[in-house]
Amino acid sequence: MDGRSEISRGCLMHFETAPLKIVRAEKQYMTDNYGIRYLDCVSNVAHVGHCHPQVVTAGKSQMATLVSSQGFISDSLMKYTKQLVSNFPDTLSVCYLVNSGSEANDLALRLARAYTNQKDVVVFDDAYHGNLGNLIDISPRMFKHMAQGKKEFVHVIPYPDMYRGRYREDDLHAAEKYVLEAEQILQQALKNNRKLACFISESVVVNCGVIVPPKNYFKLLYNVIREAGGVCIADEVQTALGRTGEYFLSFEHYEVVPDIVTLGKPLGNGHPMAAVITTREIADSLGEYYSTFGGNPVACVIGLAVLDVIQNEKLIQSATSVGKTLFENLQLLKLKHHNVGDVRGLGLCIGLEIVEDKSSRKPATELTQTIVMRLKEEHHILVQALGPNRNVITLTPPMCFTQLNARCLFQALDSVLTACAGDQTMSMNPSGGIGLQQTRPLISVEDITHLEDEDIGEPDAKRPRISYDDVD
Ligand code: PMP
Repeated sequence: MDGRSEISRGCLMHFETAPLKIVRAEKQYMTDNYGIRYLDCVSNVAHVGHCHPQVVTAGKSQMATLVSSQGFISDSLMKYTKQLVSNFPDTLSVCYLVNSGSEANDLALRLARAYTNQKDVVVFDDAYHGNLGNLIDISPRMFKHMAQGKKEFVHVIPYPDMYRGRYREDDLHAAEKYVLEAEQILQQALKNNRKLACFISESVVVNCGVIVPPKNYFKLLYNVIREAGGVCIADEVQTALGRTGEYFLSFEHYEVVPDIVTLGKPLGNGHPMAAVITTREIADSLGEYYSTFGGNPVACVIGLAVLDVIQNEKLIQSATSVGKTLFENLQLLKLKHHNVGDVRGLGLCIGLEIVEDKSSRKPATELTQTIVMRLKEEHHILVQALGPNRNVITLTPPMCFTQLNARCLFQALDSVLTACAGDQTMSMNPSGGIGLQQTRPLISVEDITHLEDEDIGEPDAKRPRISYDDVD
């Protein structure tokens, strides 16, 4: 018995076979009940760092002053919505505050359907958009494994996977070809008298294994969707607030402006809050909306503190530079290890695709699990595996992740990959012998870690303005 008998077996846990009991956390570290401190590369929710004192202080103080439901005006509500929306293109000017990514996507679907007066939805294969019935219907990752299967109003298009998809990294016209495929699927649906309400997707497609579409992909696809009468929804639940570096929102890398944007996970730094931002015209088509807890004063002051910390601690700039160093070093791991098929991502949103070997590109699902477990057990680093084959090690640490953390992660990955390659060789060639030679590093960690000492911990030096000791 692991003390979980009252919790549904269907509720997913990190490290299912040996779940962690985390008792406290700060910045990018989590501590378990044995006092072991882990480097957290999983919690994209603890965006500005676990239990950030400014966020905690704001929430505590508001809890002691006023907790009300939606339906009252408050200064924090006005200030928060104004500040949040100021990070969006001008046309996206109306904000709804809700409580989870699922609730945000459900509202986005309602808005799209109300505005277009149509029902059909285009989604990426393997996409996941939330846990409400409405969203299971449009999440191939879920409905593919369910008796209900795909509903007639859902149209599934391939996502532009430049490593494993039909058109790959060496194809200069991959974007056009993927969009053409999508267009053909859509044309067929329209021929069958289906009418389009919307297309919904992540812009960096984390749930499909951190897919980074080619630069011109969304421009072309959004045109096709709009010509067919649909609106475009960007699901930024995982990727907003600078996660992908450079910009506040990940669709900005693609120079497009969606019609509806949904936000979730990082908004409250762990406090459950989410949002939908859209145009005045689309919002006006829906009419009444009410969410009991959406936009309550506690959520608003927490949300404001998160935005404030992102700006004051220059977390988007930090994610851009730390992410760049990490990405470049991981590319070198790819050169060194035959099990690393691909490294991709933007900012602090990076995926390593683990394969049996580079030429077959066969997903190494079991090996990926071993790597995830060894990083946890031997190096106290928490990562997770995503993607349809569960073979993409996904790195989405809190945004205060430093250059030093990046170096630790990189060295741990190098060591685990080397050890796993050794295990594989041993199992193919149990008597040792020449096979073992292949596990010798081609280049050493020292060769491929080109960080300057002054880079290390640089973002930490800027934080925090309030110390952790100030929070009792
Ligand atoms: N959209 C995306 C892209 C997600 O990754 C998730 C959650 N993993 C959701 C929506 C649903 O968010 P929540 O779990 O907060 O309801």
